[in-house]
Amino acid sequence: MYDFKVVIDPGHGGDDPGAVANNTNEKDLTKLISDYMYERFKEMGVPVAITRTTDETVNPTERVNRILNAFGDSEDVIVISNHINSSSSTSAQGAEVIYALRNEDTLAENILNALETAGQVTRTFYQRRLPSDTSKDYYFIHRNTGKTEPVLIEYGFINNKDDLNRIKTNYKKYVDAIVDAVIATKMGGSIPPQGTTTYVVKKGDSLYKIANEYNTTVAELKRINNLTSDLLTIGQILLIPSDSTSDSDNQTYVVKSGDTLYSIARKFNTTVDNLKKLNKLQSDTLSVGQILTISGKTSENMPSTVNYTVAKGDSLWSIARKYNITVDELKKANNLTSDLLSIGQVLKIPVQNELPPENSENLTVYVVKSGDNLYKIANQYNTTVAELKRLNGLSSDLLSVGQVLRVPNNSSTTFEYIVKSGDTLYKIAQYYNTTVDEIKKLNNLTTNSLIIGQVLQIPKK
Ligand SMILES: [Zn+2]
Repeated sequence: MYDFKVVIDPGHGGDDPGAVANNTNEKDLTKLISDYMYERFKEMGVPVAITRTTDETVNPTERVNRILNAFGDSEDVIVISNHINSSSSTSAQGAEVIYALRNEDTLAENILNALETAGQVTRTFYQRRLPSDTSKDYYFIHRNTGKTEPVLIEYGFINNKDDLNRIKTNYKKYVDAIVDAVIATKMGGSIPPQGTTTYVVKKGDSLYKIANEYNTTVAELKRINNLTSDLLTIGQILLIPSDSTSDSDNQTYVVKSGDTLYSIARKFNTTVDNLKKLNKLQSDTLSVGQILTISGKTSENMPSTVNYTVAKGDSLWSIARKYNITVDELKKANNLTSDLLSIGQVLKIPVQNELPPENSENLTVYVVKSGDNLYKIANQYNTTVAELKRLNGLSSDLLSVGQVLRVPNNSSTTFEYIVKSGDTLYKIAQYYNTTVDEIKKLNNLTTNSLIIGQVLQIPKK
C-alpha cells in the first residue's frame, strides 16, 4: 500500500558516543529514538530497516552499505538519521532537519513542522554544503547514499538542559509526529494548510476517538477533511486543527520543565487549590512528565481581555489561533453571531493573565505559544530579553503557554527569510502576501536571481 521504504539510522554507537553532556551520550538517545521509530513504522505497515540494533561501532562506509543494502539504492528509500546536536553555547536550543542537495525540501519542512507541533523548540531545515567542494553535501549520510532521500534530524542540543529534558520526556511524541509527517508527505503530498496538522489513522482509531484526542469534534473533522462517511482506513491521512483548545469538562495536562501549580492554574483559568483537590495532591511539588487532570470551566473568575483591532486579511480563525483561544471563545467574548469581520473592528480577546500596568503606548501584546522562549520572542520583536522582562515585570525566564506579554510594537517591520532550494522571488512574495518589487526594493536587489542560504528581509503584514 505504501510506495516508499524507510531506513532508520541511529547516529553513532559503540566506540563513538557522539556528543556527550549532562551525563548523557548521544548514541544512547539516538538508539532509544530509533528503536521506537522502527516499531512505529512497522506498526503502520511501512517497510522499515535499521542500521544498528545494538551499541556497536559502525563506521561511515559500513553504515552506508547497510543503508543501500536494505532496500537498494532507490529514490523511494527514505533514510532517517537520528542525532542530538551539541554547541559550545548552552543557550543554543531546538531541532534542525538537514536534507540532501539532490532533494526537495518538502519532507524536511514537514518533519520540522511536525516536531514543532509536537512541542519541541525548532530552528530550521536546510541543506549543508562541504566547504572544500560546495557542489557536495557536508554530511556523508547525504553525500554517499546514492539516490535515496536522506534526512538528518537533530532533535535538540544535548548540552541544553531544556532541550534534553524535552527529548527525554517527549521523544515518543516527537517520533509519532515524525512518522505521521513522513507518511503524510509521501502519501498525501502537500504541506497541510495553515492552522492544521496531519494525522495518520492507526489501528483501532475512530473519528470520535481522534476528535477527543485533539479536542475537536467529529463534525469539524469531517468538515475540514471533506468526509461524507465516518469510516476510516489505516494509513488514511486526516487534517487536524493544530491549535484547538479544549472546552470539554476534564482534560489532562502533562507537566513540562518550568511548570508550577500556579502557572498551570493560571493557564487553565483555575486555582491551585482546585488543581490540588482534583489531583489529590498533598504537596505543591510537580515532576516533569506527571499527568494532571484539569477541570475545564470551573473558575468563576472571568478572564481578563485585551483589545485587538481587525487588520486586512484577518479572520476569526487566524485571530483565535494567534491568541491560543477557540473561535467560539472569541465569538462569545464579543457577542458575535456571524463570522464576518470588518477592518478596524475592535475585538475583545480573553487572556489568561493580568498584564502589569505600563504607560508607554507603543506596545502590543503577544501570547506565548508552545516552543517560545524569551530570547526567541525578543528577537522577533527586535528587543532584548532584559527589556521584555522589565516590560512584563518578570523575575524569571520561565514562560507558560497562553501567558500574555507586552512587547514593543512595530519595532521591526520586517523579518528574515532564508532562501531555500526551489525558491523564487515570486513564490516567496506570494507566500508572504507581498510583491516581488517590494522584496527587491527592501533588499536592494537588482536581479531576480536568488542563492540558497541568502537572507532576505520580508515585510511583516
Ligand atoms: Zn550526531
